[in-house]
Amino acid sequence: MLQYPNLEQALKYNFGYDRFRPGQRQIIEDALQNRDLLIVMPTGGGKSLCFQLPAILKKGLTVVVSPLIALMQDQVESLRNNNISATFLNSSLDPYRTRSREEAILKGRVKLLYVAPERLLSERFLPFLDLVHHQVGISAFAIDEAHCVSEWGHDFRPEYRQLRSLRKRYPNVPTLALTATATDRVRNDIIQQLGLKRPSIHIASFNRQNLYYEILPKTKSAYAEILEIVRENEGSGIIYCLTRKKVDELTFKLQNDKVAALSYHAGLTDEERTSNQTRFIRDDVRLMVATIAFGMGINKPDVRFVIHFDIPRNLESYYQESGRAGRDGEASRCTMFFSYGDIKTIEWSINQKTDPQEQLIAKQQLRQVIDYAEGTDCRRTIQLGYFGERFPGNCGNCDNCRFPKPMQDWTIEAMKFLSCVARCKERFGMLHIIDVLRGGKTQKITQNEHDKLSTYGIGKDKSVDEWRMLGRSLLHQGLLEQTNDGYSVLKLNALSWEVMRKQRTVSLAITVAQKPIWEGDSEKAQEVEMLVYRLRSLRKQLADEQSVPPYVVFLDSTLKLMAQAKPKTLAEFGKLSGVGSHKLAQYGEIFLKEIRAYCLELGLSSEKANVTSTPFVALPTETEYFTLQLHQQGLTVEEIAQKRNFRPTTIIRHLSDLIDKNQPVDLNLLVPLEKQQKILQVLEILGDIALTPIKEYLGDNYSFDEIRLVRGKWRRESKKLK
Ligand code: ADP
Ligand code: ZN
Repeated sequence: MLQYPNLEQALKYNFGYDRFRPGQRQIIEDALQNRDLLIVMPTGGGKSLCFQLPAILKKGLTVVVSPLIALMQDQVESLRNNNISATFLNSSLDPYRTRSREEAILKGRVKLLYVAPERLLSERFLPFLDLVHHQVGISAFAIDEAHCVSEWGHDFRPEYRQLRSLRKRYPNVPTLALTATATDRVRNDIIQQLGLKRPSIHIASFNRQNLYYEILPKTKSAYAEILEIVRENEGSGIIYCLTRKKVDELTFKLQNDKVAALSYHAGLTDEERTSNQTRFIRDDVRLMVATIAFGMGINKPDVRFVIHFDIPRNLESYYQESGRAGRDGEASRCTMFFSYGDIKTIEWSINQKTDPQEQLIAKQQLRQVIDYAEGTDCRRTIQLGYFGERFPGNCGNCDNCRFPKPMQDWTIEAMKFLSCVARCKERFGMLHIIDVLRGGKTQKITQNEHDKLSTYGIGKDKSVDEWRMLGRSLLHQGLLEQTNDGYSVLKLNALSWEVMRKQRTVSLAITVAQKPIWEGDSEKAQEVEMLVYRLRSLRKQLADEQSVPPYVVFLDSTLKLMAQAKPKTLAEFGKLSGVGSHKLAQYGEIFLKEIRAYCLELGLSSEKANVTSTPFVALPTETEYFTLQLHQQGLTVEEIAQKRNFRPTTIIRHLSDLIDKNQPVDLNLLVPLEKQQKILQVLEILGDIALTPIKEYLGDNYSFDEIRLVRGKWRRESKKLK
């Protein structure tokens, strides 16, 4: 601890980050107090740092228990690239290398040791650990993927159960348990099974604001839409399918369309799987088409999109699988294709289950997925609600919030539909009813003489998909029933009759195909993008030389900051988030050279650096950057708000924070000069207090927005004086 004035500086020096993610600081403080900890954070929340930074700051060795060899290697490589001494011991090492690593540990030259649970508890290893404990001290045990200890979790591993014996052997060494599992039951199990003592429990929000969630109908054009997502996006993506066969078919199609894609499923050999995974992680291919066998242990931080081509089994898996996008916090897209045909397939397979209890649970889970997909509320509200977390909605980053579906009155159509069910004597499924409505000529219709019914052919004006949407919605709203015997026969209930008697209206949310607007195409944005592209190939080259994944060199977010700020000196470069002391020394010059070359080519040699020269001024967040870009294009607050689908007050907050952060916001465009002066005077008198008393003082002529903006400037100026 001694060498750093505060935790932020320890963070910057070792990892290059400017600030802690939510929760990290408090957790690290607790860890430094040697408390037991249970850390529940979503994927990408930044769990690793919670034990890595304390490991560096504390005396002795931190032992990290991790279930997968691939995961260990990645983490160790990332740490080494920050000059943090870490190593792993597992079955992939020969005895000679094992010995030399053990020696280094006993000499106190290693801060973090990664091991698999079965090794940790082996006859040979425990005496070694005793020796470590005695000679250099064990600073903590960090149990990664701690939900593996629970039978209620999805990846139960019996070896994890025995970790409890560590507690007995080293009662004074604190234990940190880390997981992304959201359910209470698993959390309690972890505390029990690992024998955590009065643990400090940290549960982060499961909201991942950088992920855009959308549902697309799986129509004939679904494949074309996938191609578009792939082409719109520079980075890596995962596409999940339900079966191996579908995985292989889709991979084949994509490869035919010249998209670098590989498959991953249980039908491949171990070698094929490992090799495909490595090529994906190293950015040799962009796309992984996979069954759900792919994922655990993939901590590639720069996956830019996750597509579910088939619907997921339940919402928890959907959250985990889609959550593999955007661990680095950068904007990423999660798309689920939804079709009633898929539901039929899943229903069929559920009906094959022999255990009625299992069947019931599976049905309920499927129902929740359907509700999510059909829902018109904010996707985040539905998802987080499922985990017991309240979210007010209006997230601005899901399809339902960006493109609210208009409600339409479909009472007449509902009456037609329901009376057709009645005329067919409640003995048929949805497809047949739709056939009758649309005047079809199927054998079933002629056999049953349904072409003689009064409802025959009265629904030609609507497509099969539209009728199906209505039918599903009637079921969903409880205005119609369906048998659960595998035939899904439609049955009427009391509410259906109310609709038919015109005592009840029926509204439908109509899906209108809409596309999210991704980053602006302004000249400036393009220029930044091109530089990112070049920096990315430089990164790939450097990574290949060391045979590590590219993200180990720099994260995408850091490349983007480089391209935006175009630093000219090492000092400027070192201020970017993601550049720690070691990476600065190792890569600074070579990246600066590339940036310089690019600026020269474009004649941008005197590009104003966005990085301020005053120390400790925070950099703008990504969302603030977008607002800044639009502001610089001359858009008004209202226009920016509309374009970004935020409320104007949010934009005002961005702008005032940007001013505070010394970014080029033209305050004169936002607040008249005389008003600025008056507000500044008042701030000088009253100081940095809440806005309301300041506004009271100034009177009705001044708005909160104006005061907030000028306060940004005032704060910046007063920092300079200090
Ligand atoms: P988790 O294990 O919770 O899924 P990781 O520990 O892999 O998440 O972290 C996800 C990504 O976020 C990693 O690329 C990591 O380097 C990055 N990260 C962690 N903490 C910070 C921070 N304070 N600032 C910026 N990036 C961070
Ligand atoms: Zn939303």
